[in-house]
Amino acid sequence: MILKALILESTGYYRSLLHKILSDIGVECDIYSTGKEALEAAKNTEYAFILVSRYLDDTSGELFLHHYRENHPLGDALTIMITADDVSEIMLDANKAGFKLVFNKKDIDSIQAFLTSVLNNRTLNLKGNILYIEDQKSVALATIALFEGYQANVEHVTNLAEAKEKFSSKNYDLVITDYYLDNNETGEDIIHFIRSFIDSDKARIPILVVSGETDQTKRTAFLRNGANDFIIKPYDDDELIVRSSNLIENKKVFEQSKKQQQDLTKLAMTDQLTGLYNRHSLFDIGPKYLSDAKRHDFSVSLLVFDLDHFKNVNDTHGHGVGDIVLKAVGQVLNDNCRTEDIVARFGGEEFVMLLSHCDIDFAFTKAESVRKAIEESKPNGLTITVSIGVAAFSKDDDFESLFDKADNAVYQAKESGRNKVVIHSCKFNTVM
Ligand code: GH3
Ligand code: MG
Ligand code: MG
Ligand code: MG
Repeated sequence: MILKALILESTGYYRSLLHKILSDIGVECDIYSTGKEALEAAKNTEYAFILVSRYLDDTSGELFLHHYRENHPLGDALTIMITADDVSEIMLDANKAGFKLVFNKKDIDSIQAFLTSVLNNRTLNLKGNILYIEDQKSVALATIALFEGYQANVEHVTNLAEAKEKFSSKNYDLVITDYYLDNNETGEDIIHFIRSFIDSDKARIPILVVSGETDQTKRTAFLRNGANDFIIKPYDDDELIVRSSNLIENKKVFEQSKKQQQDLTKLAMTDQLTGLYNRHSLFDIGPKYLSDAKRHDFSVSLLVFDLDHFKNVNDTHGHGVGDIVLKAVGQVLNDNCRTEDIVARFGGEEFVMLLSHCDIDFAFTKAESVRKAIEESKPNGLTITVSIGVAAFSKDDDFESLFDKADNAVYQAKESGRNKVVIHSCKFNTVM
C-alpha cells in the first residue's frame, strides 16, 4: 500500500525540501501553498502524514487542521506542524489544535530521521505463518484481524491437541500461545512439545507467550522453560506486532546465516570441476565411513582410479579438452554408484570410490563395469581408459592403509598394461 502525505507550505523552498524527504522514503505527496486549495483538493483523500506550516498566506496551520477535520473526523493521519518559531513556545497550542508533533524548519534532519523511523514501523510486515493458540474466542478474533492487517497468515487453534497436530504437519515462522488454556492445559505444554523436536529445525521456532500472569517469577519461568518472549495480557496492539515481527525477523536472519554456512561447507568439500567430493573431504569422511563399517560389521571396498596416459590428452588436445574429459569421467563414476557410496576426485586425474556393503568380489565386478563404461563413454570423441586398483577393508586397516593398498594395486595395473582392474593382494606391498 502506498502511503500519502499532504504538504501545505507557503514557501517553495520548504515545499520542495519536504517533498524530497518524503518521496525518498517512498511516500507519495500532494503539495499545496494555500489552505483553500488544499482543503478543496483533499476532501476525499486519506493521508498518512499531514505536514502544515504554522503561517499560511490565507489561513493558519491550526485553522486549516480544524477545517480539514470537518471532512475527515476519523482520519488517523500523523499531523505535523512545521514552524520557524521556537517549538517549546507554541507546542501546547499546536497540540490543542490537533497537531501531534511540531518541528522547527531549521531542524530538517530531525524531521527526516523521525519520518523515516515512523515509516519503518508502519511498514512492518509479518509475512509468515503464525500458529496461534488462544482459548478465548473474542481475544482470538481481534488478534487475528490485527495480524491479517500486517499480511500474516494466522492459523488459530484453541487447545493443545489441535496445536500439536498443526505444528507437526506444517512449518511455522512463529508460535504465539496463550498461557492458561482450558482443561488445565498450559502454554508450557506447547513449549515442551515444540522443543522436543530435537533433530529438527522445528525445535527452534520462536515462541511468544501471551499471559495475564502478574507474578514476575512465573513469567521469568516461561522464558527459562523455552519461550523466546512474552507479552502481558491485555496487550497493546503495537507491542504485540513489534515483538512478533522481531521474532520472525530473527528467525529469518538465523536461517539465512545457516544456509550461508551450509553453502560454504559444501563449497569447501566439493571439487569444482566435477562436483564430486574433493581430497580434503575424502580424508575427512573416509575414516568415519570405516568406523561405521567396523561398528556395524559391514564390508567396505575402496577403488582407486587413475586415467591412462592422461598427459597425452592434454598435450594433444589442450587442457580445456582435458578438463571436459575429467568432468565426463566424474559423471560416469557418479552414475555408477549408490547414494550411500562416496565418490571423490582426490588428485588431477585420480578418483576414488568408497563402497559400503561391498565385498572384494562385488567390488571387482563393479570396477570392471565402470572401467568398461569409461572406455565406452568417449568424451569429445576420445577413447579414455583407466587403471583401477581395488582393496577390501579388513579389521586391521585404517583409511590410509586401505587407500595405500588400492593405490598399490593401481600401480600393478599400470605395470601390467593399463586399462585393467587389479585387486590388491599382500604380495604387492613387498613390490613397492
Ligand atoms: P599414466 O597412465 O601413467 O597415469 O599416465 P598419465 O599421463 O595419466 O600420468 P601423469 O600422472 O604423469 O599425468 C597426469 C596428468 O594429468 C598431468 C596433468 O597435466 C594432468 N592433470 C592434472 N590435473 C588436471 C586438471 O585439472 N585438468 C587437466 N586438463 N589436466 C590435469
Ligand atoms: Mg486462556
Ligand atoms: Mg596420476
Ligand atoms: Mg594417469
